[in-house]
Parts: sequence; C-alpha cells; structure tokens
Amino acid sequence: MTALYFDAFSTMPLLPEVKTAMCQGLEADVGNPHSHHLHGLIAARSIDRVRSSLAKCYGGHPDNYVLTSGATEANNFALRQGWQWGGRTGVIFSAIEHKCVIESARRAGEDGAQFRSIPVEPNGCVNLNAYAEMLKMGPSLVSIMAANNEIGTINDVEHLCCLAQAVGARFHTDAAQITTHDDFSVDLTGVDFASFSAHKLGGPIGIGALYISPIVSGLRPLTEGGGQQGGLRSGTLSPLLCEGYAAALDVWTERGAVLRKKNSELMGLLQNTLGEFAADERIFGPAFPIRHRANLALKVKGDPELILAQLFGGLSISDGATCSAGSIARSHVLDAIHAPRGEHLLRLSVNPLCTDFDVHSASTLLLNALRRVAELAE
Ligand code: PLP
Repeated sequence: MTALYFDAFSTMPLLPEVKTAMCQGLEADVGNPHSHHLHGLIAARSIDRVRSSLAKCYGGHPDNYVLTSGATEANNFALRQGWQWGGRTGVIFSAIEHKCVIESARRAGEDGAQFRSIPVEPNGCVNLNAYAEMLKMGPSLVSIMAANNEIGTINDVEHLCCLAQAVGARFHTDAAQITTHDDFSVDLTGVDFASFSAHKLGGPIGIGALYISPIVSGLRPLTEGGGQQGGLRSGTLSPLLCEGYAAALDVWTERGAVLRKKNSELMGLLQNTLGEFAADERIFGPAFPIRHRANLALKVKGDPELILAQLFGGLSISDGATCSAGSIARSHVLDAIHAPRGEHLLRLSVNPLCTDFDVHSASTLLLNALRRVAELAE
C-alpha cells in the first residue's frame, strides 16, 4: 500500500520489535494458557510477561492488571462495575471522554447510578469550578481521561485524582492515548483504575488492560465464564497478543523519551509545512505543553467528508474519533468545547515510524485537497 498513514491515534502501525515478537510467538507450541499441563504453563508465560511489562511501564504490581480486549472493555469494566461501592451512586466524567466511557456511564445509570458529565473549558480541560461543585455531591466514581483522542487535551490526572479522593470518590482515568505523549505512572497519579490499549502504542489490536489499585476490593466481573484472571475477566487470553503487547510496552519503557522526542519533531515539521493552515487559531484544543505532542486537530470550514474523499488512497487521516466510525454525527467533543457549528475537525496524528519525507508529502497532499475543496465551494 502506498498511501501515507497519519492516523496513529486510531491505531499505530506495529513496531518492528512487536512484529518480531509476534512472529516468534506464532512458532511457539500450542497450549491454552489457562490449562495446568506443561503446554498450558508454557503458554501462560506470555501472560506473566505482559503483566510484568505493564508494571514496568506504568507502575503498580503485575497482579494489579486485568488483561482485556482493549481500552473499550477496560473502560466498560471500570465505569459499569467500579461505582458500586460504599452506598454512593454518583458517576461523573468529563464531557470529552471517549464514547465508550460515556456509554458505559449511561449503562451504569440503568443499574442505578446517577451519572453526569463535567463541563470542560474551550481547550478541553476540566472546568475546575464545576468539578469542585460536583465533587461536593459525593460521587462514588470519577472518570477523567489522561489524553483526549480528538483534540489532544492532556489532563493533570494527579491533581484531579487527588481532588476526587479527598471527598472519598474512586478515580478512573482512560490512559489509552497517553503513552506516546509522556510517561504515565499509576503510582505517581494514585489512580484507582486506569485503562490502556496496545494498539495505540504500536502493539497489536485486540489487547489492553485495566489497572485496578490493590485498595479496591469487592469488584464484580463484567463478564462471567470460566473464572480466568482471578474470576475478574473470564475468557481465554491470546499468548500471541500478550507477546506483542509486552514487546510494545518494553520499547516505550526503554526508549520512550527518544520516541516521544521524535513525535514532537515530526509534529513541528508538520505544522511548519502546513503553514497558515496549522496556525494556532486554526487548531482545536490547547497549546503545548498540555496538547498531545503527536496530535494535530485542524479546524476546517469545508465538509470534512469531501476533504477525506479528495485524499482517499493518498493520505489516511481522520475527521474525528474513528473509534466511533460509521457515525457521521458531529463529534460530542466539538459540542463540549462549544466549537461553532460551521467548524469541523480534521485530525492528523504522527508516530515515530514516520519520516520527514512522509511529513512533507502529507502536507502537500492535504494543502492541495483543502484548496480543491475550497475552489469547489466557490
Ligand atoms: N479511549 C480512548 C481515549 C481512545 O482513543 C480509544 C480508541 O480510539 C479507546 C478508548 C478505545 O480503545 P480500544 O480500541 O483499545 O478499545
């Protein structure tokens, strides 16, 4: 395929180390990692390996991680099960959370939770006055993402978590997009729950994790079955996906600073080559350093679908949250930050495997497409 790929926030291409680990995994003997014979025990080493890589990358103890199919499942687990404790019923979440958090909160509502969204500032940061007022109501669970997947807002998770825990609430963060921006530590932030996803950092699609603090007890599983993972998440885990995820985590643990610097350099070049189209006033979300270094959310006036159609086959970018693909409804994130109705979002996200040449070519393609769509509209 020759099309350029600038959509790492949807999924990042596999890191070479991940491909190697997964190819080796394909050669391994068959065995269900939850079986107690020799083949099972050998397969189970991949599970131990990924849990240990999670703890090295994000802190905590390997046993504090429940492996899931990705951040969607991890978020569902935390939001739908994590609020049921201590007789409290309030679930609050920031207005720019990923759809899977918002929909899970709604589901918790069907089970008796009272859910509300916390308003955000025009840059996507939580409105601290509104947050303080909502905390006074004594929620049982707060969910605020570490990094937003559309406009790239970075939240001060440590501070927001501290405020929530001071009123006795549990705190969950969706940390699916943070790793390519900065280090993230469950120990330093003190969160009760954190959701992660392998494919946002160059690992395979189909695996992620939920960190559950050791002080959280009495959590019920989201799905029932054979009682794997201490009864918290039934279902057979894939050793192959575990190997790939562990390899990706190890790369970010060992070389994260270098890769993130590369992301920043690529982003600087991208903004330079896009010139006035990427000027500060033409970007959604905050300015650095509280904007994700790999994300550029351009404000465009033309129909984003037309622009994407012009780019089809040449440059793959997103017109918002492709995780909710299929829906052409305006993004709830733009509504939450009160973006004018005529302003649309085009998202370009870089990854450390991109080259400078890729960036120059992508900019040329995008500028040409923007001009053509503008001409068509005249
Ligand atoms: N949370 C955020 C912030 C995301 O960006 C995404 C995917 O785009 C998800 C959750 C869902 O992750 P997954 O694809 O691992 O289920």
